[in-house]
Amino acid sequence: MKKKKPEFGLLIDYEYCTGCHSCEVSCAQEYKHKVGIRGIKVFEVEQKLPDGSMYLTYFPFPTEACILCPHLTKEGLEPACVKHCMANCMKYGSVKELSKELRRKSRMVLWVP
Ligand code: SF4
Ligand code: SF4
Repeated sequence: MKKKKPEFGLLIDYEYCTGCHSCEVSCAQEYKHKVGIRGIKVFEVEQKLPDGSMYLTYFPFPTEACILCPHLTKEGLEPACVKHCMANCMKYGSVKELSKELRRKSRMVLWVP
């Protein structure tokens, strides 16, 4: 049987991610995940620039355990991670709408389950 295309996803603007890990913590609290299970994980990448200085980038990356918080979104609420991201760099929405936003700016990723 053909798998249904996902209709909703998360748009993550990692350019503005501060690496605060609130998304990870809020997801773990929402689902009472056991140690080692995470719905989203924030990776830190350190790069050396041509002038010798170091540059840090954070990548929030949803995992296979992310189910997009249907109990919240059905009520018109934001997923826990989106709500608690103080940098406001995560957005939940339809894949169609988020794809349009993705074209407007670099350093964003669209994640669909
Ligand atoms: S959308 Fe929900 S399940 Fe997915 S990472 Fe965010 S809080 Fe966790
Ligand atoms: S809560 Fe937002 S700013 Fe903090 S690590 Fe997650 S995506 Fe980045």
